[in-house]
This record gives sequence, C-alpha cells and structure tokens, in this order.
Amino acid sequence: MARRKLIAGNWKMNKTAAEGAALAKELKAAMVAINPNGVCGESISQIRDAEGTHTAEVLVCPPITTVPAVVVELEGTCCQVGAQNIHWADNGAFTGELSGAMLKEIPVSYVLIGHSERRQYFGETDETVNKRTKAALKYGIKPVVCVGELLAEREAGQTNAVCERQTRAGLAGLTAEEMKNVVVAYEPVWAIGTGKVASNEQAQEVHAFLRGILKSLFGAETAEATRILYGGSMNAANAAGLLAQPDIDGGLIGGASLKAADFAAIVSAAK
Ligand code: PEP
Repeated sequence: MARRKLIAGNWKMNKTAAEGAALAKELKAAMVAINPNGVCGESISQIRDAEGTHTAEVLVCPPITTVPAVVVELEGTCCQVGAQNIHWADNGAFTGELSGAMLKEIPVSYVLIGHSERRQYFGETDETVNKRTKAALKYGIKPVVCVGELLAEREAGQTNAVCERQTRAGLAGLTAEEMKNVVVAYEPVWAIGTGKVASNEQAQEVHAFLRGILKSLFGAETAEATRILYGGSMNAANAAGLLAQPDIDGGLIGGASLKAADFAAIVSAAK
C-alpha cells in the first residue's frame, strides 16, 4: 500500500494567537488555491486531487497557546493541528509541562517529539523521547518522533549509528499495532534552520537505512507502512526533489511553514 505523504509545519516559538490566526487564514486561502475543487478526503485531514485520489495529509504545529485560534481558523479545511511537546505523566509536579489529557482536550491530533532543539536546549534524551512517545499513543495523539545526527557526527561517519540508536530507543517497547499511528522524522541537525539542505541522495540513503531499522524492529509490513519525513531547510524550491525519493514520505518544515505560499507550494509538491 502506498504511503500517503504528510507535510507538517513546525512553527516553533513563533506566532501569537492573533498572528497564528492570520497565518492560518492565509494558509487556508493558499490551500484552496492548490485544491480548487475544495474536496477533502473522508477526514478533513486529507487533500484529494481532481480525480479524488488521496494526495497529501497536512499538519501545522503552532505554539500551544496559539493552537486554539488556529484550530478555529482551519476548521473544515484539509489541515490538522498538532503540538510541539507532551509530558509522559498523567498529572503531577512537572512545572511548565502539559499532559496527554490536556493536549487531547485542546484538541491536537499529532505531537512532535524529540526535536533536536528539545534535545539540545531542554535535556531531551532518548529515554524521555520514548516516554513521551508512549504517552502520546496512550492519549490517542500521533507522535512524530524526530531523529538526526549533528554535523560532527556526520563528519565522523556516525550518521547511521546515531540515527539507529535514537530510533531504537525512541520506539522501544512499541508494538507493530501502535506503529500504525507513529511517524518518524529524519532531521539532520546541521540542516535545521541553516539553509543547508541534505541532498536528495543523502536524505534517501538515511531514510532507506531507517526503514531497515523499522523492519528489524517491527517486521517488513510495518516498515513499509510507516511514514518517514525529511526535515532540514526544506522549502518550495527543493521539496519536489526530496519528496520524489522512494523512502521520503513527507516533510517536517520549520522556516518555510511560516510563509503560507511557501508551505502550500511544498504541499503541492507532495502530490
Ligand atoms: C524543523 O524545525 O524541524 C526544521 C526542519 O526547520 P527548518 O525547516 O527551518 O530547517
């Protein structure tokens, strides 16, 4: 079965509620422009082309305080809304954190987990990535589990080893059934926010390697069905080449997701 592409925007710590609503409004207009018949799939998260074929699934992940305004603005469109973090506990003394139950009532359908900025600035580890992933699944929120190597690790020839370690640890203890709701994102850290995109070949090589890891963990069927997104300076100009690679099933987009026309162009490239 073909994997439906997922184009996900990570707004990071950008856009107040008012600014986010304005961006969502622009995005809505841009999405109508690329999907002129206005037909969404069975769920509002799917874009169909003129022939009614499923094309891409679209997601934006604003700061949590901006999510409600964006949810309102995007209601009835083909765009889902997600969060950027989740805590593993149901409740308790975890100042500044949000539980799955809290995220579920906002509501969000996806959550980013283990983004390199969380790993770099907030002490995220492979172990906490795993705990957050399990919490998301427990609350029916789909985790997007991010992995990727630092520049020094790539230069030392450790790309595969780092990505394998992060993937095995992040997904430890999950079942093949749970993997139906998990998305993996390969984001080379040296490419995030730097304008230095991985080449199509570099990205495809790691994606194919990661699919092999998924196969060894969960079997061939699950590995074939799991979506692996590429993230790192994806933009309107380079998206088509990356998204044409056989093992690249979508994008996790930072900077370009803050410009409606650019993000819509990437969605369009996923068709
Ligand atoms: C990201 O934040 O996940 C990301 C890929 O950012 P950018 O597209 O700006 O490199």
